[in-house]
Parts: sequence; structure tokens; C-alpha cells
Amino acid sequence: MPAGPVVFVDIDTQRDFLDPRGSLHLSASEEIRPNLARLTTFARDRDIPVLATACSHEPDQPDPEPFPPHCLVDSKGAERIEETRWPGSLVLAPDGAFEPPHGGETVPSHLTLQKRKYDLFSHPEADRVVSFYSKSGPTTFVVYGVATDYCVGCAVRGLRERGHRVRVVTDAVAAVEPATLPGALDEFEKVGAERTTTDAICGPQG
Ligand SMILES: [Zn+2]
Repeated sequence: MPAGPVVFVDIDTQRDFLDPRGSLHLSASEEIRPNLARLTTFARDRDIPVLATACSHEPDQPDPEPFPPHCLVDSKGAERIEETRWPGSLVLAPDGAFEPPHGGETVPSHLTLQKRKYDLFSHPEADRVVSFYSKSGPTTFVVYGVATDYCVGCAVRGLRERGHRVRVVTDAVAAVEPATLPGALDEFEKVGAERTTTDAICGPQG
């Protein structure tokens, strides 16, 4: 585990991407599901805050992304998969204002930031949210989820552009185009994000 404050960043682990019946199922996502479960359990057991993102699209809104319709508001496909589900998550709507609980004195154990575009920083409150999570000093953002070639990439680059420490869990990310994964991981390293693994974060499986 990295030294100092740590925040887990769970990117878009929703049914439409990870469930075989989902509208935009990523075939490469099957093998990461056990690791997503381990990371989620680890966060719960150790009180590590999870900043989760979720695509949230309206059916009548032109999709700004080059994808088929997915993660429609209130649909089954927009739900998180079993492995990363967090009952009681504080949900921030796509145009909602961020109100940290108890006037900002406590960090939510799990926050779901809903967004209309694949870049998490497209949310008008994203900068405030990220600053809030790193207010206690240099914080390491441990990033995992989907898809490496879109949403995960935006999160990694956006966090690095803002000067944050980033570790990418290489065995807990999956790409729409699996062949792009090695190149994407190289690119993340070039912008200063470190690589890590589920074992390195959670400890080897006993
Ligand atoms: Zn989307």
C-alpha cells in the first residue's frame, strides 16, 4: 500500500460494461471481476474512501460518445456490478452540487459521481470533489475499472494534470479494445502514474 492518505477510484464498473448481457459488454472485463471484488472488500474493511464514477445517460439525449446507448438513468445496466456495489453510497447527480457530509468534517465512505460524458472531469464539481479528497495532504489515488482506453485514461491523465499521485491497478482495468491496453499503460507511466496490482494493494491471496 502507498504511504499516506489513499483514495480508491472505481471507474464505471457498471452492468452495461461488465455484465455479459450489458449493452456495451467488454469481453476483457470478465477476468478482472474477482480483483474488483477484492479491492472493494479491502476498502470496506480498512475504511478506505471510494470515489466511484458512473455513466448516467438520458434516453432522449444525443449521446456525446462514440458508443451505443448504455447506462441509461434508472436502468439495470447503469447499476454497479455485485463486486463493486456499495449500499448507502452518496450519489452526486450529473449536475448536482457536492455537499460533503457533516459540513466536510467526514469523508463519505463511498461517493458515486454520475456523469454524462466519459471523462470524470466533465462533471462540473469534479475538481471540488477531488480537492476535498486530497485536503489532508498528498493523497494517492488508486485507479481501477473500465474502460482503460476511455474513462480510466481520462481519470488518470486528469488526476496527474492536477498534480496528484496516481497508481493504476493493472489487473483490475479492462479496455474496449484489449489490444490497446499495453500502450495505454505505457502512456499512463509517461504522465507519471505508477503501476500496481491487486496483490500489491490488498496483499497476496491466502
Ligand atoms: Zn457513457
